Amino acid sequence: MVLSKTAPETDVSIHSTFASRYVRVSLPRFRMPEQSIPKEAAYQIINDELMLDGNPRLNLASFVTTWMEPECDKLMMAAINKNYVDMDEYPVTTELQNRCVNIIAHLFNAPLEETEHAVGVGTVGSSEAIMLAGLAFKRKWQNKRKEEGKPYDNPNIVTGANVQVCWEKFARYFEVELKEVKLREGYYILDPEKAIEMVDENTICVAAILGSTLNGEFEDVKRLNDLLSEKNTETGWNTPIHVDAASGGFIAPFLYPELEWDFRLPLVKSINVSGHKYGLVYAGIGWVIWRNKEDLPEELIFHINYLGADQPTFTLNFSKGSSQVIAQYYQLIRLGYEGYKLVMENCRDNMIVLKEGLEKTDRFDIVSKDDGVPLVAFTLKDNSHFDEFQVSDMLRRFGWIVPAYTMPPDAQHVTVLRVVIREDFSRALAERLVVDIQKVLHELEMLPSKLLTKTAITVAGDEGLNDDAKVVVVKKSALETQREITTAWKKFVMDRKKMNDKMNGVC
Ligand SMILES: *Cc1c(COP(=O)(O)O)cnc(C)c1O
Repeated sequence: MVLSKTAPETDVSIHSTFASRYVRVSLPRFRMPEQSIPKEAAYQIINDELMLDGNPRLNLASFVTTWMEPECDKLMMAAINKNYVDMDEYPVTTELQNRCVNIIAHLFNAPLEETEHAVGVGTVGSSEAIMLAGLAFKRKWQNKRKEEGKPYDNPNIVTGANVQVCWEKFARYFEVELKEVKLREGYYILDPEKAIEMVDENTICVAAILGSTLNGEFEDVKRLNDLLSEKNTETGWNTPIHVDAASGGFIAPFLYPELEWDFRLPLVKSINVSGHKYGLVYAGIGWVIWRNKEDLPEELIFHINYLGADQPTFTLNFSKGSSQVIAQYYQLIRLGYEGYKLVMENCRDNMIVLKEGLEKTDRFDIVSKDDGVPLVAFTLKDNSHFDEFQVSDMLRRFGWIVPAYTMPPDAQHVTVLRVVIREDFSRALAERLVVDIQKVLHELEMLPSKLLTKTAITVAGDEGLNDDAKVVVVKKSALETQREITTAWKKFVMDRKKMNDKMNGVC
């Protein structure tokens, strides 16, 4: 996305050393060039410029898959020209999506009869999945309120303040109030008791997160279900639960099959999961599954016939690629239950290696849990000298992308570094990272005398979303005192907190 605000004033041209073999004129940056250029030149120019992007495999900020088997890459490339929406023309692709929906619904223990088909749809990611699930809740609630002759213009959702930004988007775009249960230091997930207190007759659903984005911790969906069930009996409201299992939906069934978080709990009416996180597919796929047909109001489903036969659809987008759906099906049959379990166990083992390595330094408190999403979230025990943002910044020098961010209210004074362990993050890399973190700590300790600090915009700058987060360069001569430097840092961190847009670079 280019926000006009972020565009520099000049229309600087783009050069490429190698491409000058092919083209003599340079290209304007923001205007379409008058003439065509040879394909080799276009390739070279773009390829050269992309070299400056970070290495996806070293991007420890993201849950999103960065490695797949070459066989699957091949299938994806072969399908790159297939529009997914042309379901009548590509019936096999549609069939594969339907198989995925059913496989995932069974994985989440949907109460299906032997021959019954699951209700669900493939999306671009969990964000689209959550928009659809949220719309279904909103419409169901409105219909019920209309029937009862009660006002239906003030719906709300109850969540923890740790929700991913897509819930805030849903709330704003579709005019639903987001009622957030505040966090507190040392407790970074939804407190079921407090959530229940917030539920009222206008609550369309309570959203629980299986794998908080901030520290990977699983929320206690079972406790929430039981408490809400009591409240429903008292009030007669029938408030349902949605589980945002974007990252945990492909972890819990394999590592913690006994954990009840899914359709085994009667109030859980829909669940989303990101196929492109621990579903092990490249970016661009998510899933939403409903418990029953009754949980997805028929009036939200569009029936189109201009592509051939009658085709029901419930998505925000129309056209999209087919490759991700095919890749998801590949992973499900290639790995099977056993394969996914092994991958997840490996991730958990590597997470433990990293966590124990960090604990050995005696410099960090760990704020993630061993039985959540395989990630390590940690804070400095002592950040009076330097802070987590500086650690994050310094790690970039070694090629590591480790985000630092502040926790949401009321734990906003806590800053966290987070390393997500994906399939392609090996034990050797985990050990290497600990060594590099130690080097960084050592350098930061030596810092005051040679201070030339450039602040990291790992959090706010990555997506180019937060224009206010311009890189701030704080230069201090050796003569200035450590106290002044620390003050400058604190101010910068406070300013950044004010920018409120949370965690843009963390996904
Ligand atoms: C990643 C994430 C999302 C958003 O998912 P996308 O697939 O990136 O759209 C939503 N909720 C949680 C808990 C997440 O971790």
